[in-house]
Amino acid sequence: MTTLLDRTSFGAAANLVCRECGATYALGPGNACEQCFGPLEIGYDDSRLAQVTRDSIEAGPRTMWRYGGLLPVSPVVDLQVGCTRLVRADNLARELGMNSLWVKDDSGNPTHSFKDRVVAVAASAARTLGFSVLSCASTGNLANAVAAAAARAGMRSVVFIPHDLEAGKVVTTAVYGGTLVAVEGNYDDVNRLCAEVSGEQDDWAFVNVNVRPFYAEGSKTVGYEIAEQLGWRLPSQVVVPVASGALLTKVDKAWREFSSLGLVEPSPYRVFGAQATGCSPVSAAFKAGHDVVAPVRPSTIAKSLAIGNPADGIYALDVVRRTGGAIADVSDDQIVEGIRLLARTEGIFAETAGGVTVATLRALLASGQLDPAEETVILNTGDGLKTLDAVAPVAKPTATIAPSLAAFRAAGVA
Ligand SMILES: *Cc1c(COP(=O)(O)O)cnc(C)c1O
Ligand SMILES: [Zn+2]
Repeated sequence: MTTLLDRTSFGAAANLVCRECGATYALGPGNACEQCFGPLEIGYDDSRLAQVTRDSIEAGPRTMWRYGGLLPVSPVVDLQVGCTRLVRADNLARELGMNSLWVKDDSGNPTHSFKDRVVAVAASAARTLGFSVLSCASTGNLANAVAAAAARAGMRSVVFIPHDLEAGKVVTTAVYGGTLVAVEGNYDDVNRLCAEVSGEQDDWAFVNVNVRPFYAEGSKTVGYEIAEQLGWRLPSQVVVPVASGALLTKVDKAWREFSSLGLVEPSPYRVFGAQATGCSPVSAAFKAGHDVVAPVRPSTIAKSLAIGNPADGIYALDVVRRTGGAIADVSDDQIVEGIRLLARTEGIFAETAGGVTVATLRALLASGQLDPAEETVILNTGDGLKTLDAVAPVAKPTATIAPSLAAFRAAGVA
C-alpha cells in the first residue's frame, strides 16, 4: 500500500522504534522489527511532547483526546471515549483494611470497556494511513470496540472471535453490522489465524497486529486520567488486569511521561498485575523468577484476559519488577467473589476481568505484597452486563412471592 502521509496528522510521533535493538522505521503499518523481529513502538519528538502542559490538557475536550499532544495521531475516529470516573472506594477499603482505595471505572466507555481507548487511536491511525477496513482478533471487548468505531467511521469491520465467547459480547459486536467471524479455537488460535490473514489482506488494518504500535499507545490515557483526577499526582500502588500485558506497561509509561514532562511531581509507585489462575502465564513467570513467559492453554471464566501467549508479557514483568510490585492470580471462584464484593461494597458491577482485579488485590494484601496503608488504585476495565453468566447462579431474587401482603410477610424479608 502506498499512501502519502501528512506528518502533521501524527502529532508528536516521530517514528517506529524497536523495543529490543532500537532500530527505527518511518511511521506506517507494521509491528515487528526487520532486523531482530522485536516489537515496534512509537517514538516521539521530545520537543513536541514538551509543549504539553496542564493548562493545555485542561483546555482540551472531556475525552481521552485531551491528551492528544501525547498520542501518535489526531482523532479522526471519535466515539468520545475516556474521562471515565475515578471512584473513591471507602467501603471496599474498610472491608479490606486499607487506608485509601480508588476504582478507575472504565466500564463507562462507549462500548463498556477500556478497549475503546486503544481502538480510538488504532482506528484513527488506520484511517490516516489510508485503510478502509478495520479488523482484529478479539477476546470479546475489542470486538465490540472495533465494530462500533468502524460503524462510526464509515469503515468496514471484520472481527474474529473464539466461537465460545459470552453471548453478551457476541450480540454487542454483531449489532453494529460488520462482518463477525467465529473461529473454532481459542484466542491464541484466532490470533495466529489473523496473523496469516493479515499477510494476505494487507489492505486491512488489524488493530492489534499491523497497527499495534498505535493501538497500544491508547492505553496510556488510563494512566494520564488517574494522575489528573487525583489532582495531578501519582498513587503509590496500582493493580492492573493482564491479558497481553500492554495495558500494564502503558500505565507505567504514562506515569513516567507525566513525571519527565513535569506534569506531576515524580514519586515512587509500585505496579501490580492480576491474572486468572486458569490463564496465568505472566503470574507464573513472576513467581518462578523467569524472564521469559511460557505459553499456556487458557481455561477460565475471565475470557477477556484469556491470552495464553501474551505479546507484552515480558515487558509487564519488567515493569512490575522495576517498580517493586508483584503479579498474582486467582481462581474462578475467587473471581466471582471479587465481582460480588465490588458490587456489594461500592455499587459497581464489573465484568470478570474486574473480578480478577478485586480478588487479586485481596490476595496481594493477604500475602503482604501490597501495602494496605498506601494509596492504591485498581482498574475495572469492563462492564458486568457483558458477563452475566459468571454471576447468574449466585445473583438471584431473594424471594419470589405471590402479589399479596400475606405472602410478603411470610417471606421474611422485612
Ligand atoms: C483486553 C482487556 C484487558 C487487558 O488488556 P491487555 O492490554 O491485553 O493486557 C483487561 N481488561 C479487559 C476487560 C480487557 O478487555
Ligand atoms: Zn529490532
